[in-house]
Amino acid sequence: MKALIVIDYTVDFVNGNLPVGEPGEAIEARIVELTESFVQNGDYVVMAIDLHHENDPYHPETKLFPPHNIIGTEGRELFGQLKDCYDTNRNSIYWMDKTRYSAFCGTDLELQLRSRGIHELHLVGVCTDICVLHTAVDAYNKGFHLVIHEDAVASFNEAGHAWALGHFTGSLGAVVTSKS
Ligand code: ZN
Repeated sequence: MKALIVIDYTVDFVNGNLPVGEPGEAIEARIVELTESFVQNGDYVVMAIDLHHENDPYHPETKLFPPHNIIGTEGRELFGQLKDCYDTNRNSIYWMDKTRYSAFCGTDLELQLRSRGIHELHLVGVCTDICVLHTAVDAYNKGFHLVIHEDAVASFNEAGHAWALGHFTGSLGAVVTSKS
């Protein structure tokens, strides 16, 4: 059994308050294609989406980044065609709020995966070297097999993106793959 984890592919992270920019826009079609494919296969699909409250003095990211993915704002909506894809398939997709980089931190993701007998996680979204990386590290430590879709992850930091791809294969034993 496998699952697709779509990480932080929201307006704020693509072209909003904390934008990846062009590399983020470039992966839209592939993320949608993979999401539709996993849904059609009956595989488990998770939207793991950052959630913040404005000026939260207790959140460590408040000091590190501009306000982003604030609850109830347009910036927290899924970007582009992924929003339509989610709306069409929302009965088959698990929307999961997260408040830290890793999709495992403070969420029930591991319980949902274990209860379904899922051992293989496919990761897509942004940023390759922040939330995708931290999710991958936690998944590795918990014994999940990892597949990272190189044509469906992106970062505002080109060097960080490249480093993370190498780390996935060299240190986490992940398969890094792409369509072409
Ligand atoms: Zn955040």
